Amino acid sequence: MRGTMRGICKMRPGRGAEYRTDLPVPQITEDEVLIKVHASAICGTDVHIYHWNEWAANRMKTLPIVFGHETAGEIVEIGANVTGYQIGDRVSVETHIPCNHCFQCENGRRHICENMKLFGVTEPGAFAEYAPVPKDCIVRLGAGVTYEMGAMLEAMGAGVHGVEKARVRGKTVLVSGCGPIGLMVVGACRAHGAKQVIACDILPEKLKLAEEMGADVTVNSGERDIVQAVRQETAGAGADAAIDITGSGRAIVAGLRALRRGGRFVSVGLPNGEIPVNLTEDIIYREVEYTGVSGRQMFATWDDCMEILQSPGFSLKPVMGGSYPLDGLEDALAAIQRGAPGKMLLIP
Ligand SMILES: [Zn+2]
Ligand SMILES: [Zn+2]
Repeated sequence: MRGTMRGICKMRPGRGAEYRTDLPVPQITEDEVLIKVHASAICGTDVHIYHWNEWAANRMKTLPIVFGHETAGEIVEIGANVTGYQIGDRVSVETHIPCNHCFQCENGRRHICENMKLFGVTEPGAFAEYAPVPKDCIVRLGAGVTYEMGAMLEAMGAGVHGVEKARVRGKTVLVSGCGPIGLMVVGACRAHGAKQVIACDILPEKLKLAEEMGADVTVNSGERDIVQAVRQETAGAGADAAIDITGSGRAIVAGLRALRRGGRFVSVGLPNGEIPVNLTEDIIYREVEYTGVSGRQMFATWDDCMEILQSPGFSLKPVMGGSYPLDGLEDALAAIQRGAPGKMLLIP
């Protein structure tokens, strides 16, 4: 395909990004498809890229680049080496681009590939009318999954991967942080058969949405002590599992202490730098199992997400924050900055 398109480009190191109307439509390789983007969602990562923090500076070596990685669209062009797809197929995109040759890739862990590239970070992404998608990263959307929902699946998958690791069936789970991923985690805990879901955040609007997603108890951690609140709700026992989406040191320590002995802690959110943890008291003596998740299992977690979307009572509606045109990125970022709840979408 030839011609120009509209898109959002990170032009140079430093704060900001540029909305352009003159970007070339990406030329795909034999191992890629071209998608016409119908909806993209804004991730915390995109906020980092816009503001150009250390994380972004360390990873983005090739500028200018179209960024944005949470997306859904239809295939409009297919590379010669890509089989199994047709023009018009509705798809989403896995962000982690595996090398297929390293130890991790060869042992069923392509999502933590040692040579991983990132769609929309190290490689061109989806805040544009068209995006090139590597064949290993194409995910077909299930029937009834709209493009808006499809654009939220990548972020949902990160949270659902955390829910998978927390093994929540029949358990009491503490979910810390009710941003878009936290809200989807609350719903996924329900769909996975958790006995009781306790959600916490510091913003009442977000806690209200957590209730809509199926939280049994919500705790305003700005007003109440989390450890005490969880003990109260569990007759003194503590939670069986905790999933942290905040990345806040305070929330992580509180989450660890809110667990019962032998409980399971899963970190989804990324702390900014190192955080102090009392390993002896809070993990070792209490035999807490601590793990993190990086992205989604390829592609078991995506299948899991599609199933959760079908489960009775689960809806992504409360998670949809607002829709903006491509040239409205700054308005969307301002809404996120204000603490507006839910996921912000860009519609080309
Ligand atoms: Zn993301
Ligand atoms: Zn690899």
